[in-house]
Amino acid sequence: MIPFNVPPYVGKEQDYIKQAIESNRKISGDGFFTGKCNSWFEETFNTPKSLLTTSCTHALEMAAILIDTQPGDEIIVPSYTFVSTVNAFVLRGAKIIFVDVRPDTMNIDETLIEAAISDKTKAIVPVHYAGVACEMDTIMEIAKRHNLYVIEDAAQGVMSTYKGKALGTIGDLGCFSFHETKNYSMGEGGALLIQNEKFMERAEIIREKGTNRSRFIRGQVDKYTWVDIGSSYLPSELNAAYLFAQLEEADMINNQRLNSWDLYYSALMGLEKEGYVRLPVVPEMCEHNAHMFYIKCRDLNERTALIEYLKEKGVQTVFHYIPLHTAEAGLKYGEFYGENIHTTIESERLLRLPLFYGLEEAHILSVVDLLKSFYFKR
Ligand SMILES: *Cc1c(COP(=O)(O)O)cnc(C)c1O
Repeated sequence: MIPFNVPPYVGKEQDYIKQAIESNRKISGDGFFTGKCNSWFEETFNTPKSLLTTSCTHALEMAAILIDTQPGDEIIVPSYTFVSTVNAFVLRGAKIIFVDVRPDTMNIDETLIEAAISDKTKAIVPVHYAGVACEMDTIMEIAKRHNLYVIEDAAQGVMSTYKGKALGTIGDLGCFSFHETKNYSMGEGGALLIQNEKFMERAEIIREKGTNRSRFIRGQVDKYTWVDIGSSYLPSELNAAYLFAQLEEADMINNQRLNSWDLYYSALMGLEKEGYVRLPVVPEMCEHNAHMFYIKCRDLNERTALIEYLKEKGVQTVFHYIPLHTAEAGLKYGEFYGENIHTTIESERLLRLPLFYGLEEAHILSVVDLLKSFYFKR
């Protein structure tokens, strides 16, 4: 049996959790380990401010509050994404404008964004699918010209870069995920990266239930009080301790994942040459983090048969994202702008193969062999 995902675990996690409990005597938020994680992101990714959060979903919610999303505002996103990308803005009354994806990367097609902008547009939310960067130069240039915010959903993009810049640090705000299915984990968790300095102070307030508690702790005010809307977006030290153990080994985890990805890629090139499957595309100037390895089947029926075949042989594979504009809530809260040429068709072809830290080479080769027997022996 080869599972689709196993949560990452490098070995030091328990020591650090124990340290939080027994030595630091601090298990709520914003203690030693939360600070270590935030500094690590700020230094490693060269960004002015990181705030660890309870999830990427919550980092996105903070971003929606920070840009002052109002009822009727429009937010431009790809339709091929996770619900959290859009829920954060719908919760504030925004209308979602869905745009088609590029078939090569499954990222928002940057050439379609400008036409979808109206006088109600507030922000563009690019999603770096599979940890492969969106065409950020174009997106940032459009946003600048139209005075829009850019919020990167970099849930899958931790340790990836675009033209040398870390994903999540290019837009005004960037959101990471440390869910157990992501490259680095704390069970449930995320981070908000703040590039636009005007958001820094308010972000701390929103994250601390709308209070100025962070300023109080730093001695900048002599009592703390309710100053804004907000919620409880800071994670427990226990979760931060788990994450920090992995950040210390981030290069090792990243390299191992890239090796797995490269092995899948080279072993499946033959199937692509024969026209059976399509392999992922990583544009030049993008360094990816091997968040996922997917293949594209010829159509939905073939994918369904392949999933069933692999399941019988003990290999767990998954697909995801029913295009949001076709979903029940998507019809209610959003609208597809332009023509859906690629989103539905490409999403029906995509199949994710097992990929996680610790996946054995032999298992990758077994998956490859099964794929070959599926295609060659039919
Ligand atoms: C995983 C994911 C999220 C949500 O992350 P959580 O930390 O589970 O809230 C949001 N967007 C994308 C693209 C994701 O892959």
